[in-house]
Amino acid sequence: MHRQNHSDVLIVGGGIIGIACAYYLMKAGRQVRIIEQAQIGAGASHGNCGLVFLSHLIPLCAPGVILHELKRMFRRTSPLFIKPSLNPQFLSWLIQFARHCNRKHLARVVRARANILLSSERLFNRLFTGEELKCNWEKRGVLLVYQSAAAMKKYAKINQILEPYGLAAKPYIGQALRELEPAISDRVHGGWYHHNNSHLRPDALLQAWKKTLIKNGVDIVENCQLQGFVNENEQLTSAVTSCGNLTAEQFVLTTGAWSTQILSPLGIKLPLQAGKGYSITTDRPSICPQIPCIFEEKSVVATPWSDGYRLGGTMEFSGFNADMVGARLNGLKVGARQYLKNPLGKQIHEEWVGMRPLMADDLPVIDRAVGIKNLVVATGHGMMGISMAPATGKLVAELVTGKSPHIDPAPFTMKRFL
Ligand SMILES: Cc1cc2nc3c(=O)[nH]c(=O)nc-3n(C[C@H](O)[C@H](O)[C@H](O)COP(=O)(O)OP(=O)(O)OC[C@H]3O[C@@H](n4cnc5c(N)ncnc54)[C@H](O)[C@@H]3O)c2cc1C
Repeated sequence: MHRQNHSDVLIVGGGIIGIACAYYLMKAGRQVRIIEQAQIGAGASHGNCGLVFLSHLIPLCAPGVILHELKRMFRRTSPLFIKPSLNPQFLSWLIQFARHCNRKHLARVVRARANILLSSERLFNRLFTGEELKCNWEKRGVLLVYQSAAAMKKYAKINQILEPYGLAAKPYIGQALRELEPAISDRVHGGWYHHNNSHLRPDALLQAWKKTLIKNGVDIVENCQLQGFVNENEQLTSAVTSCGNLTAEQFVLTTGAWSTQILSPLGIKLPLQAGKGYSITTDRPSICPQIPCIFEEKSVVATPWSDGYRLGGTMEFSGFNADMVGARLNGLKVGARQYLKNPLGKQIHEEWVGMRPLMADDLPVIDRAVGIKNLVVATGHGMMGISMAPATGKLVAELVTGKSPHIDPAPFTMKRFL
């Protein structure tokens, strides 16, 4: 095999998780190559809302979710939509998801998410002071906004759970909320302000990070699709790709929602489904929020940047596809209109759909693959891939280099499903 086809580590998948893994592996002195079937950031990492949402410790599979969501989740315009399906993998995922909607699991997830998110926050701070990564990173907090007093009151219980981690929010009602964020409409009841959260522009972060990696010798190969692995005695010897066979000592799989179809031929079946989300990117509305806002009742997020603005959200389970449903895209505008004086900029720059990789227990898998000695898998970050990326990358680098992990890796093992 020609030396050019060989690297210490071959990362498959150039989303935020693959890029973060490459960075920490490069820092650990490894020679790294990333292959990406399209372009860096072609998947879920491109058009998402860009929140580094530290305080989001509660998983999607929380107690009571099934009952609460059941009524609205089969409606086509609903922010949470489940397309009726008899697909056995999806049904099995749904059953596992439902089984995790309990208090014991909630406590486990909250601890695990706090660990990985607080570590990511520290690493983001270091990253943005140590490297020149222009991506509109700002610490303006995140505001959860409510139309109804009852919905706002419900969050008080969640806020209590966040307190021990220093991640609780402060309530603002009526005029106090509008003084904090003048873009909020007069019809809104109140909001919870998580002052220590931050946000960034994900597409800009990916491009800037990519440049840093290339400058530091990481080989990034775009338009190169993994087609399979050569597995000899539980050891991968090469990756078969559309640009030839590539060998490496260690392989890292960061293919997001595509991961199940790649892992399945290796005998690994993970309960992962694509949770589709939408976004609309525009110029800044004339009255633009200063703080990123989440309109929880409508599952819509409004993220402002100095050079743009994005509405994003919805969670749609309709199989593995990037079909764009106009009604759901429109739902973002309709939802935001109920909370903001001016919900959208005049110029639409992009309408986008992306597939979140969502595990049935809403925790990522960051672990050595069961039954394969030299493959590490980092996938299933669901709604939190941007927020969890740095700690994921660091943990993957530790797994590959055999260093002791900087956070407890137990909640992220693959064995929990196999
Ligand atoms: C609407 C929306 C809003 C969101 N908002 C936020 C937010 O505010 N904060 C937050 O933290 N998270 C948010 N997320 C979640 C976040 O976007 C994801 O968790 C994250 O992008 C997942 O990153 P990833 O690298 O695992 O996957 P991806 O970005 O999807 O990357 C996987 C890559 O692998 C490539 N690939 C697949 N198969 C192959 C193959 N065979 N060969 C080579 N390459 C391959 C794909 O092309 C893709 O580029 C949001 C998601 C959506 C949809």
